[in-house]
Amino acid sequence: MLACSRFNFANMRGGFIFILVLFSTLVYANDPLKIGLFHGQEFLRASFTVVKGQMEVVVDGEALLKLQPGDQFDMSTASGQLCFIKGELQKKSSSRIVIRSIIPTLFKIQIAGFKATQRLYEGDLLVTKVGSRLQLTNILPLENYVSGVVEAEGGARHTMEYYKVQCIISRTYATANLRRHEAEGFHLCDATHCQVYHGVSRHEPLIKIATQETEDIVIVDQNIDLITAAFHSNCGGHTNNAEDVWSKPLSYCIGKKDTFCLVMPNSNWEKSVEKTQWMGYLNKKKYPLEDSSSASAVAYFPSEKELYFADSSLKIPNKVIRQDFKLKSAYFSVHQNGDKVTFIGQGFGHGVGLCQEGAIRMASLGYTYKDIIHFYYTDVHLIPLRFRWFFAAE
Ligand SMILES: [Zn+2]
Ligand SMILES: [Zn+2]
Repeated sequence: MLACSRFNFANMRGGFIFILVLFSTLVYANDPLKIGLFHGQEFLRASFTVVKGQMEVVVDGEALLKLQPGDQFDMSTASGQLCFIKGELQKKSSSRIVIRSIIPTLFKIQIAGFKATQRLYEGDLLVTKVGSRLQLTNILPLENYVSGVVEAEGGARHTMEYYKVQCIISRTYATANLRRHEAEGFHLCDATHCQVYHGVSRHEPLIKIATQETEDIVIVDQNIDLITAAFHSNCGGHTNNAEDVWSKPLSYCIGKKDTFCLVMPNSNWEKSVEKTQWMGYLNKKKYPLEDSSSASAVAYFPSEKELYFADSSLKIPNKVIRQDFKLKSAYFSVHQNGDKVTFIGQGFGHGVGLCQEGAIRMASLGYTYKDIIHFYYTDVHLIPLRFRWFFAAE
């Protein structure tokens, strides 16, 4: 149990320190996130449209003008200098341009060769020049970002409890990875490298509610460290130990039986390749094809998940075969089928941590987000981020 009696509130000095630390923690928890937009795209010009609200353009710290819904403007580094352009008005900047929301605002961004007109952003926009290109950074509260990620990554038509699980995972990931793009001047990018973020959540109303109802909740391990909230599409009936897939163990990612995902779309798959290709591959891996074990090369039926292919003393990891043949999972059997061999497999993904399709099924059966998170992550706690220091203090 997490102790709640670590502070003596009768002790005035302790109380004062408590308030100070609490205040500083709250300030930190409320700090907005900086998200690098269109990560991996190189562009010198971008067009913006204010859709709702009111914004203010601030060039090198100086207010330039206010923008209303329908106003369009461009940002460009084409001249070699960062420049704000609105019709005849052009203003060069030596360092940064901030497009600040005065009241809650929505805006659209268009960059050449990239269709993003359907995306709407909120919060502020920081525009800088990096080398010769434009860097766009969206500044917004963590909770708004979480809703956007869950919509971009989680898909539509799920239950509230499943969205709550996704919100908590996304929030945990974001807060555990705030330094991932430190050198580039923002916290996280908007691509799969971090978490996919395509602006505000606006198609699935349940996501906003799920975000609010889990506000500030993150997953921590027994040391009150934020967990690496690994997840995958479908574990195939048994999740994996982290150390069997990656190099290091994670105390909360322990392989366990999961029957919830067995009836879901990604629970089974098949893939055939030429037998000559498969035998050539095994030959290269020094699999003994000339003796009695060669039969197992085309007739491999493991009764449970195995880490190594057929003859485990040869140490050909199934996860490497998965990678080399682009299989959906490392949990498969091999069958001969004329001059082809067929891999028949279960699950989709690395199998570590939370099984998304299992979680979707659990939520539809009436399990709560807490049940689901505790089922897939071993010995974890759900705590408010702003009080993490309190639980960790000792
Ligand atoms: Zn990233
Ligand atoms: Zn599963």
